[in-house]
Amino acid sequence: MTATATRVLVLNSGSSSVKYQLLDMKPDPVGGSTAGTRLAVGLVERIGEETSRLAHTPLATGGDKRETEGPIADHEAALKAVAAELSADGLGLDSPQLAAIGHRVVHGGLKFTAPTVIDDAVLKEIERLVPVAPLHNPANITGIRTAQALRPDLPQVAVFDTAFHTTMPEYAARYAIDVETADAHRIRRYGFHGTSHAYVSRKTAELLGKDPSEVNVIVLHLGNGASASAVAGGRCVDTSMGLTPLEGLVMGTRSGDIDPAVTFHLKRVAGMSEDDVDVLLNKKSGLVGLCGDNDMREIRRRIDEGDERARLAFDIYIHRLKKYIGAYTAVLGRVDAVAFTAGVGENAAPVRAAAVAGLEEMGLAVDADLNAVRSGEPRLISPEYARVAVAVVPTDEELEIAQQTYALVNA
Ligand code: ADP
Repeated sequence: MTATATRVLVLNSGSSSVKYQLLDMKPDPVGGSTAGTRLAVGLVERIGEETSRLAHTPLATGGDKRETEGPIADHEAALKAVAAELSADGLGLDSPQLAAIGHRVVHGGLKFTAPTVIDDAVLKEIERLVPVAPLHNPANITGIRTAQALRPDLPQVAVFDTAFHTTMPEYAARYAIDVETADAHRIRRYGFHGTSHAYVSRKTAELLGKDPSEVNVIVLHLGNGASASAVAGGRCVDTSMGLTPLEGLVMGTRSGDIDPAVTFHLKRVAGMSEDDVDVLLNKKSGLVGLCGDNDMREIRRRIDEGDERARLAFDIYIHRLKKYIGAYTAVLGRVDAVAFTAGVGENAAPVRAAAVAGLEEMGLAVDADLNAVRSGEPRLISPEYARVAVAVVPTDEELEIAQQTYALVNA
């Protein structure tokens, strides 16, 4: 890597999509540290279909978003199309300014506790984890292989969704099932969204003017997927997702916590197959299962019109959230802040208000005026008197991946 190589390409490869961002990590000449400047962002979706779509925004040149539609056969073709878009803006992947490519990898198991430069052994280990992340790791591997073929000389770094949660104590990570069976099949609670929980908990400490080591934070990542984490002094001590991202909070289409006997019942009594149950719990449950919508804006609109099913779905969502706030308050002993993040957490003021309503005895309250403010900046929404700070902290997983990648290749 040359001294001028300060750019990082972040790739988030899904089964039929690739999200990407090119960031410049050049240190700020005044402050010394880098906030990371976004040069380009984009998305390729519906890979493998006739109607693939590439949307590319060249932020560096201030150009407009460019959208192209047409078949993109596979991830290799997708990445080549992205490379061509970047080249058109003078930001080509062949540039000596590109320092590394950072990949989001969903499952890192127990082995990967930190970002890791990818070599054959690392790739093999990510492959070994496919049985515990069948939907995600194969796509991540394809993304890595494709990027390696494009720039074999460049460091490729894996940043794992699970890494931040590897500090969970054994009593929080282990399910209370037969130990031999669990260990033989690597069944334990891994947790996900770790990059977001790491970023948001650190940003929350910053917002409070403290070092992360000094504060205990409950992070509520409420997107389409949703998870909570308890972070003590910068280290994760519990999180709501488990072996897979199905456990925990009510999500857009996932049930979250459920009695596992429901699955036996669905098979034995309702005659459903293994795959039917999988699809039911992952895709047809949560908010969508409860009321037919998973977009919180639509649910709030329906509630305003007096829709009872939307109301009940909202109440179930909030009830689960409250239970986790209570549980993690007990886990942490002392809570300095509760931070809301991701699509719902950052935008849905009624969710934030309802989640802490009635929790004044626990030191939690939301100021209605502060809660109503719309902003892309981290901010406090609790009243002065509240013992626990309630914050809205926009997440930025791509920036976190770029920072971790850049730090690693410069170490
Ligand atoms: P993902 O898990 O797909 O990354 P996001 O973090 O982008 O999800 O969150 C997407 C969800 O955020 C949407 O399904 C919607 O429920 C919610 N959302 C986005 N904008 C708003 C808004 N203005 N008000 C309420 N909810 C919103």
